[in-house]
Amino acid sequence: MSVRRHVHHHARIGVSCPHCGSFIRTRSSRSVSPTCRQVNFACSNEECGATYRGYLQLTHIISPPARPNPHVELSVSPPRKQPANDDQPRRHDTPGGPEVPPANDVDAPGAAIG
Ligand SMILES: [Zn+2]
Repeated sequence: MSVRRHVHHHARIGVSCPHCGSFIRTRSSRSVSPTCRQVNFACSNEECGATYRGYLQLTHIISPPARPNPHVELSVSPPRKQPANDDQPRRHDTPGGPEVPPANDVDAPGAAIG
């Protein structure tokens, strides 16, 4: 009897109850913005009975959409510095991403802030 690998469950988010460790399931959710959803969770452990509220937030785009919605403000580049594709020639220490404000490259040691 050969057991084949089961197909993963649909988009089940692996969040556990922080108090009892049981699986918590989504009870309801509502849209907060195009990139954010407020989700109510309930612990599956009846003896626990905890309910939670959290947010499901899209932070950036991994693969850009074919037809972007101009109302959606998502950066294509990840928020943290990470060597992605080497499409662009590497420049002098510039952090990637168009949304990132230019860093001050003031090397003067005595430059005081404010
Ligand atoms: Zn619980």
